[in-house]
Amino acid sequence: MNKAKTAAKGLAICAALALTIGLTACADGNSNATPGSQTSAQAGEQTEKKVVKISYLPITHGLPLFVESELQKQNPDIQIELVKYGSWPELMDALNTGRVDGASVLIELAMKAKTQGIDLKAVALGHRDGNVVVASQSIQQVSDLKGKTFAIPHRQSSHYILLCQMLQENDLSIDDLNVVELGPTEMPAALAQGQIDGYCVAEPFGAKAVSLNVGKVLYESPELWNDSICCALVLNNTFIQKNPGAAKELVSQYAEAGAYIGQHSQETDAIAKEYLNVDDSVLPLSMKWISYDQLAITPEAYADLTNKMKTFQILENPPSYEDFVDASLLGQ
Ligand code: ZN
Repeated sequence: MNKAKTAAKGLAICAALALTIGLTACADGNSNATPGSQTSAQAGEQTEKKVVKISYLPITHGLPLFVESELQKQNPDIQIELVKYGSWPELMDALNTGRVDGASVLIELAMKAKTQGIDLKAVALGHRDGNVVVASQSIQQVSDLKGKTFAIPHRQSSHYILLCQMLQENDLSIDDLNVVELGPTEMPAALAQGQIDGYCVAEPFGAKAVSLNVGKVLYESPELWNDSICCALVLNNTFIQKNPGAAKELVSQYAEAGAYIGQHSQETDAIAKEYLNVDDSVLPLSMKWISYDQLAITPEAYADLTNKMKTFQILENPPSYEDFVDASLLGQ
């Protein structure tokens, strides 16, 4: 009886979400929506709503953004417009050219853009932990990867750092294997077809390989890098300066969405399924590895990240914490 009640409640939530999600999840890189303010008149009342355009990739790592968007539909001050992209380069192009106000993105890509003169600010973490190193079933230990092909989504990524860290701990170097960049969605199939022998990438693509039984977990990220930083919510600094109230609202509600995920698994699973196109066997595993509370970017964790980026030659001169991180908007 309890199960039936739970199922009925779940369906009701899904139906309600399907109605609301349809309005935002369909936005994509070709969206024609006009940025800026939107005026709505309800019962004679004029309300100025700031439209905030945030780009994302459909990955588990962006979940706080999806949840915030769903929870904030009735927010009188801001309207979050999510803009979906299919790859990191496309997303970064939109961010760097000001077509969006911000993004949930691999922090290393935003740091690189910052060093190239794009005035971006990282305002919160995308998630905590939540990466795994996956290898084909024939790989018994890390040394078996010698001479094999290993995929990462981008050299400027924490996935590349995790790979380098794993090799270092097993007395191997990056030159011992063939490293290729591959789109996250392509990785599980490439592993299944033997085109690659392992990969490290944003979720849910590690969980996909494991649930399909074509791959296994060699390492979870905390085993290689404690308190790792991967994705961040990044905003264009011009947007922050011109819209301090909206920026504060966006980021503080984002943190609340992160905390909400840990307390409302059924509701957030429904949102995740709408945005991520994952089935029931993949999502629980993916969610097991990740958390979304305490999304502040601490100076200590950032220093660890920049040290690793220099050690593994990802970026010679990463931006300083003071220049790149704006912790003030989080409201914590
Ligand atoms: Zn991430």
